[in-house]
Amino acid sequence: MKDLRLARFSTERSTIEVKGVTIGGKEIILMGGPCAVESSIQMSHSARTVKKAGGKILRGGVFKPRTSPYSFQGLGLEGLNYLVQAARENDLLCVTEVIDASSLDLVGDKVDLIQIGARNMQNFELLKLAGTISKPIILKRGLSATIEEWLLAAEYILAAGNPQVILCERGIRTFEPSTRNTLDLSAVGVAKELSHLPVIVDPSHAAGRRDLISALSKAAIAGGADGLLIEMHPNPAEATSDGPQSLYPEQFIQLARELGIVAGSVNRVFACSGQEDEDTLESLRTQIDNIDQSIIECLVARMKIVGKVGDQKRLDRVKDTNREKEIIQRLVNLAEELQLPPELVKKIYPLIFEFGVQSQIKSKVALDKELDLSCYPLGSK
Ligand code: PEP
Ligand code: MN
Repeated sequence: MKDLRLARFSTERSTIEVKGVTIGGKEIILMGGPCAVESSIQMSHSARTVKKAGGKILRGGVFKPRTSPYSFQGLGLEGLNYLVQAARENDLLCVTEVIDASSLDLVGDKVDLIQIGARNMQNFELLKLAGTISKPIILKRGLSATIEEWLLAAEYILAAGNPQVILCERGIRTFEPSTRNTLDLSAVGVAKELSHLPVIVDPSHAAGRRDLISALSKAAIAGGADGLLIEMHPNPAEATSDGPQSLYPEQFIQLARELGIVAGSVNRVFACSGQEDEDTLESLRTQIDNIDQSIIECLVARMKIVGKVGDQKRLDRVKDTNREKEIIQRLVNLAEELQLPPELVKKIYPLIFEFGVQSQIKSKVALDKELDLSCYPLGSK
């Protein structure tokens, strides 16, 4: 690889310093967050989780290069504000992906690191532009790129004047269909042998499924990675993209708790900050905020099912007092068993039922109107 003039290995490994965070040093740097930024609540929940796990960098895509033109393409500038604000409030750095010159222009001054995704690894004009800015660039390996092509892509950025490149192995396309891609862990060692650049691993896009993320993350650290970029979502089932590979917040924190021991075994360090601040006022409030969010999400899910039930009932059967009584009795018993005041259940549930019934009635009336109109398009009943 004689063209690796700047990326080529030298006796000194490069470290990249961003606002007090060192990438490529002894410490393993954990980065996490959703595939795509969707809302400010989603980002603040994600940021608190990353912080609690001991992560340093919040991720979230606002310009999404999707395989299908009909898939969610990202919130753009609105999403960028959510990302930046959530990171700032939790004392984290943030990274987002750019896909072309104009997105680079838009986010360049606002985020701490820039990601160039797998699909743009050989977008040479974008690489040259990324070489003109003074922010670190996370350069993902292309879907079917050799290590040499990946390093030469990095060379474009270095040659254009930006020495701060972090390589990211994110799985390559192989004949194996059980995983979305195949995580090429040997690429970490090879890239570090051939270049002085820090190398991180994204197990999420490699595996495409959350059950493998913990093991692959540990393997990556054992294999010499300087950090991890992991997708995590407060509610993966509702994620606009990459839900199946996104960890739940609790899984992300649990993984972080287990990383320190792997890091220690290869003479690196990683500290999960989760345990010690469990009972501070701020942490307790964070826990309450997370629970409140889950309550709302459960209510949304309940209302959706109530809607489906409504579709199967006649209008005069929408309210079912006996069933309501049965439910309340069951929940009162449960509350007593769990030492929650049963009055709380007795107060809250009639309201929940009432809203359910109202929404069923509304959708039935709307459906009847629609049917009426389609039977008598000219209103000539
Ligand atoms: C991403 O990080 O959200 C992403 C699109 O990753 P990749 O470029 O590796 O597919
Ligand atoms: Mn993704």
